[in-house]
Amino acid sequence: MFKKILIANRGEIALRVQRACREMGIKAVMVYSEADRDAKYVRLADEAVCIGPAPSGQSYLSMPAIISAAEVTDAEAIHPGYGFLSENADFAERVERSGFTFIGPTPESIRIMGDKVSAKQAMIRAGVPCVPGSEGALPDDPAVIKKTAKAVGYPVIIKAAGGGGGRGMRVVHTEAALIHAVQTTKAEAAAAFGNPEVYMEKFLQNPRHIEIQVLADTHRNAVYLGERDCSMQRRHQKVIEEAPAPGIPRRLIEKIGERCAAACKKIGYRGAGTFEFLFENGEFYFIEMNTRVQVEHPVTEWISGVDIVRTQIAVAAGEKLPFTQRQVQLRGHAIECRVNAEDAYKFTPSPGRITTWHMPGGPGVRVDSHAYTNYFVPPNYDSMIGKIIVHGDTREQALARMRTALSECVVEGIKTNIPLHRELMVDASFVAGGTNIHYLEEWLSQRER
Ligand code: ADP
Repeated sequence: MFKKILIANRGEIALRVQRACREMGIKAVMVYSEADRDAKYVRLADEAVCIGPAPSGQSYLSMPAIISAAEVTDAEAIHPGYGFLSENADFAERVERSGFTFIGPTPESIRIMGDKVSAKQAMIRAGVPCVPGSEGALPDDPAVIKKTAKAVGYPVIIKAAGGGGGRGMRVVHTEAALIHAVQTTKAEAAAAFGNPEVYMEKFLQNPRHIEIQVLADTHRNAVYLGERDCSMQRRHQKVIEEAPAPGIPRRLIEKIGERCAAACKKIGYRGAGTFEFLFENGEFYFIEMNTRVQVEHPVTEWISGVDIVRTQIAVAAGEKLPFTQRQVQLRGHAIECRVNAEDAYKFTPSPGRITTWHMPGGPGVRVDSHAYTNYFVPPNYDSMIGKIIVHGDTREQALARMRTALSECVVEGIKTNIPLHRELMVDASFVAGGTNIHYLEEWLSQRER
């Protein structure tokens, strides 16, 4: 096992990985920007290295700064967390070339999955169902594009091969609007992602977002840990996640889960990963794979009893997965609410000094956050400052626990979206379960002020 790991991230996930290292007897090196100098997880670290000023381009995204921090501290491996450099194949390659272990898949896997066209092609080859659409990237010939759209059936969605974070997509309802939409998306994709390639998919009207968590080792073992329902989204950003997904028959989950695990073996995948699907009328359609740990991993940890971060580290060190698919037993129901430093009504960011931070506790409650009373939320990064996760024997019990947990929260000095979560936990449709990806936005547009 590693003796020392560098954690190339910040905030709650940096703390989450630090905790896993402590538990495993591994020393953790934290890197931080000048804006994060006073963070508690930095102060309490075994070792900490400042890697630059607040803007992430000069700190958390600076490959040379991070690699030289690993060199000066003699770390053996680098955990990238999520966001920042976690899905950057060039970074993974540079880490390995510098003689460190990248805690994640190979640079080749990241590269294939990072390009949505090649990811989709790999999934089709591995027998994972995809959204019907163009075979690979769209050509330039307008006649061919029109023919493809006709075959797929309107509405269609034009998506950038290099897109991410909900950007680089355009829905088209009629042939008249098609060619212009393709050209604009191409131009935008070239400017935003440095890759003008776009492809076409059928636009699904009312899908749910269901994803499958996988773990794979370097000994050709791969398992899936059930699914998560992340349909509660605002601007393609997840707000609430839960596991299992309400109302989806287990046999459907098992079928798609087995396909995902088999695909991992086929592509030589290692580490933690997530296959994201749209789910409509009883069918799964692959949209993309995330080759890293996800924000919402705790809901899966809770129903499966598997420590995903610990397992990531263990398989990166060459260990075998400590359990087989048959030993994976899912129990109860878990829900996660993302706590953001933002106005709960207008969604404007609310950075600044937290004067009171009181978080809930009790049976079935977990809080993953690096925040505390007197912590200063820097304005430079994502507004998520923590996650409240609950578990119950049933979904009803989990919902009741979340309501209680949210009622105990007191945060002063900054605004948070906790009031939004309180409202959603008593919303009749959410409580019934199975809302689609448009539900939250529609709910917000009708919300009374
Ligand atoms: P990103 O990498 O930018 O997150 P995704 O491919 O994961 O892009 O898609 C993001 C979101 O866009 C999905 O969660 C869904 O809400 C919507 N979306 C993507 N493809 C389709 C589709 N074919 N039909 C309907 N909605 C889609």
